[in-house]
Amino acid sequence: MYRWSCDSSTNSSSCALEYNKNNVVLYFQKHIHAFDYIDIASELVRFIFKKSPDTIVHTISDKLASPLETLKRRGIPVDRLLQYKQQYIRSTVQMIEQKSELNNNNDNHETHAKINGCVEDFNHQQTKNDTKLFSMLNTGREYTQTKFIQQEYVKNEIDHSCEVVPSANMTRYKDLFHSIPLYIQQDVLITNKMLDQAKQLAWVLIGLANHVFKISIETLHLFRDINGARIAFNDRHALFFNLRYYEQVFADKVQPYLQATSSSSSSIPIIHTIFNFYFILICHELAHNLEMAHNSNFIHHLQTIAVKFMIEKDLFLQQFSFQNYLQNNFI
Ligand SMILES: [Zn+2]
Repeated sequence: MYRWSCDSSTNSSSCALEYNKNNVVLYFQKHIHAFDYIDIASELVRFIFKKSPDTIVHTISDKLASPLETLKRRGIPVDRLLQYKQQYIRSTVQMIEQKSELNNNNDNHETHAKINGCVEDFNHQQTKNDTKLFSMLNTGREYTQTKFIQQEYVKNEIDHSCEVVPSANMTRYKDLFHSIPLYIQQDVLITNKMLDQAKQLAWVLIGLANHVFKISIETLHLFRDINGARIAFNDRHALFFNLRYYEQVFADKVQPYLQATSSSSSSIPIIHTIFNFYFILICHELAHNLEMAHNSNFIHHLQTIAVKFMIEKDLFLQQFSFQNYLQNNFI
């Protein structure tokens, strides 16, 4: 993203916006130390209006350069941006530096495979990838806020699909479910059945986290929405799983088998299906720790993670049952 594609000797701007029908990308000169908001505003205005009225450039530039508190005082709706924890608000220079560092790492990583289409030593690459993978497993974060608020937005994927992420205004429920918190969307009627099913889903997830992936269960969260399309999502390495999906797809089917012992559970297909489903779903969300978009890089990470933990998953599945899901102690 922070690649400079134009000949800077003929263009004095610090950035350039390029677009096609699927993507809009803003490129910055590699060595700039601070954003030039007039340049950015000019590019945005050129993109939106074609002919750029100068007054609009200055209005946008002023907004980009103003602190959020100033914008709030002026009555501009910036509450969502202000809610981000301080740790996520970094100086623009830091962000540029970090991003270009990341890009450089990616370039290095891809070099073997992409420049000549060859991989000299798969085993060597695999070992390198394993190191990365295991360090990624420890990068999850705990979400501690009592509310999870997100405005509706449209996410443009590199694979050209366009996914609408619904708005969410969720509050953390007072109790934990096998130590996993549950975020419930406003206006959801909380029932005992729902809370019981939250325990079931949490039981599956902590089993997978503790025995298969060996990731901290603090990175796991449940959410209960009304009609969103998301089954799970990754919010900057905090993993969220939709309880409603479990309720609607699995809960009734597994109900007769909740008290089955571990020896008989291994022959019950719905228990396999649930376990496999959440296994691959966690793989998917963990792959987003490495790649946000659903692109070929993402597929590569997803496959690697799935294969890496498949054996542990199969072994643990043989002894898994819901029998003790009502207990408060871990297995
Ligand atoms: Zn995804």
